[in-house]
Amino acid sequence: MLELTNISAGYDTGLVLRGVNLTVPPSSVVALLGANGAGKTTLLRVASGQLRPTTGSVSLSGVDMTGKRSEQLARRGLCHVPEGRGIFPSLTVAENIRLQTPPGVDKRKAIRDVAEVFPRLGERLDQRAGTMSGGEQQMLALARAYISKPSVVLLDEVSMGLAPRIVDDIFVYLRRLADAGISLLVVEQYVARALELADYVYILDRGRLSYVAEPFEISEETIAHSYLGGL
Ligand code: ATP
Repeated sequence: MLELTNISAGYDTGLVLRGVNLTVPPSSVVALLGANGAGKTTLLRVASGQLRPTTGSVSLSGVDMTGKRSEQLARRGLCHVPEGRGIFPSLTVAENIRLQTPPGVDKRKAIRDVAEVFPRLGERLDQRAGTMSGGEQQMLALARAYISKPSVVLLDEVSMGLAPRIVDDIFVYLRRLADAGISLLVVEQYVARALELADYVYILDRGRLSYVAEPFEISEETIAHSYLGGL
């Protein structure tokens, strides 16, 4: 479980997040929605240890991780799939998977597991990651998250710029991660799909949480307002 409590954070240019509370319970999917510039990516950076909050705390499975570095959070089971993917483009698919395989896990088994869960990657194990399509690279980023057996995965706009058919596949894979007991915190531009996948929805409006609910409680009007910055 990931818990962000009373988070304020920002950059040299000023504060972006103000007093945000967000919880990702075990085995659940949380969608984080909001207009451009609302602070979604900034919140993921705080959660993954890339950005130290000005105030507030970050806790993972009950352990206070405020101010800890990304690698320390990763070791405790938090995996961040950033916008722009975070894979090694000059390495092959299989090499990317080997690099991410945790110590003590057989690398060949990890590759077999990936090929089973992500068949399109199974057909491309010897292909350099950078030569794959955008959607396939995104699948590889998800596969890397999957084999590191995290407890929480943060996903920033994983479907950005992909064809709708590929986005369908990506959402099937996200469902598989969730069904495998991995909690997801998802920032997503496809609101309807995010709502379908999510157990809980948070809406950020100019750095403050404006709405927290279960998906069925959210009206289209609420969403439209938040994206127009009008709540
Ligand atoms: P989008 O949906 O457009 O990706 P977002 O909700 O993810 O937006 P953030 O990327 O968190 O929003 O940005 C929130 C604010 O912080 C914006 O005004 C942005 O310009 C600013 N910001 C983001 N990164 C930095 C940075 N490295 N330095 C200074 N300001 C930044």
